[in-house]
Amino acid sequence: MEKILVVDDSAVQASQLKAILEDEYDVTVAQTAEDGLRYASSESFSLILLDVVMPGMDGFTLLKRLQEEIITQSVPVILITSLSDMEHEQRGLVLGAVDYITKPFRTPIVKARVNTHIKLYHYRRQAERQSMTDQLTGIANRRRYELYSADKWQEASRLRIPVSICMFDIDHFKRYNDTFGHPAGDQVIAAAAKTAASYLHRRTDFLARYGGEEFVGILLGNRAEEVFAYLKKVRQAIENLHIPHDPAVSEWVTVSVGGVTIVPPPGSSYDFYLKIADTMLYDAKKQGRNRVVWADERMRQLREK
Ligand code: GH3
Ligand code: MG
Ligand code: MG
Repeated sequence: MEKILVVDDSAVQASQLKAILEDEYDVTVAQTAEDGLRYASSESFSLILLDVVMPGMDGFTLLKRLQEEIITQSVPVILITSLSDMEHEQRGLVLGAVDYITKPFRTPIVKARVNTHIKLYHYRRQAERQSMTDQLTGIANRRRYELYSADKWQEASRLRIPVSICMFDIDHFKRYNDTFGHPAGDQVIAAAAKTAASYLHRRTDFLARYGGEEFVGILLGNRAEEVFAYLKKVRQAIENLHIPHDPAVSEWVTVSVGGVTIVPPPGSSYDFYLKIADTMLYDAKKQGRNRVVWADERMRQLREK
C-alpha cells in the first residue's frame, strides 16, 4: 500500500481525509507542520496532503522545508485550501505544490486527484530507477556510478574510512565474441555481473557496469588485505562458473581484477585513485590474466599467483 501523509491542524478535517483515502492507502496524520516535517523525513511517503493555514509553522513554510531536504524534495505535495483562498492556491503552486484540493471535500475529487498524483509519482520513480540501471545486467549503470563514487569519496574523506576501488575486466573477451557470437557474449557479461554482485552484497558495497565488459566496484570500510582476499574469491567464483572459452586462449571465461584501498587524503581526487586501480588491472592483464592485483594503503602491490 502506498503511504500518504496528511498534515492538518484540524482533527476533523484530517479524519475526513483519512476516511476518504484509507481504503486504498496507508494514511498517517500529523497535526502540526513540525510533526509533518519529522514524519516526512523519517518515512517514505508517496504523497503529502498539506493544509495551508496552520498555527505555528504554516503550510508554505513546511512546503519550502520539504523541498530543501533530499529525502522529501521529490515527494509530491497537494495543498488543502478553501475556495476563498485563490491567492494561497497560486502561491502554493508557484512554490512547487503539484495540485490543490478545496474544502469542503468532495470524495470523488479528492480520490481522483490523489490517485493521479500517486500514479505519476510511481512512474517517475520507476523511470528514475531505470535511468540508473544497466539494462543487460540489472546492476547500476555508469551514470549511477558517477554520482555514487563522488558522493562516497567525500563521505569517506570526511569520516576517514578506507575506500576500495575495484576494476573487473573479462579476459580475452573480443575473442569470446568472435568465437561464440555477440549474443552469447552478452550472456557472459550478465553472468559475470550476477556473480560479482552476489558477493558485493553489503549495504556499503557497490557494483556498476563501467562499460562493455568492465565493471567497477566500490567497497567501504575494509583494509586492503581483506578486500584483496575477498576479491580473489570473487574472481575464483567467476572462473568456477565454468563457461567454456575458446580453448586456444583459455579453458573457461575468467576476469582480471585490479584495485586500490585508500583512506582519502584531504583534498585528494577520486580520479587519481581510479587511475591507480586501472593500472593494477593493466598489471593483472600483463602478469597473465585471471588474477587480482591490488595497491594497499601504502601503495605496495599485492599480487595473486
Ligand atoms: P583483455 O583480456 O585484454 O581484456 O582482452 P579483451 O579482448 O577482453 O579486451 P578488448 O578491450 O580488446 O575487447 C573488449 C571486447 O568486449 C570488445 C567488444 O566487442 C566487447 N564488448 C564490449 N561491450 C560488449 C557488449 O555489451 N556485449 C558483448 N557481447 N561484447 C561487448
Ligand atoms: Mg576491456
Ligand atoms: Mg577484456
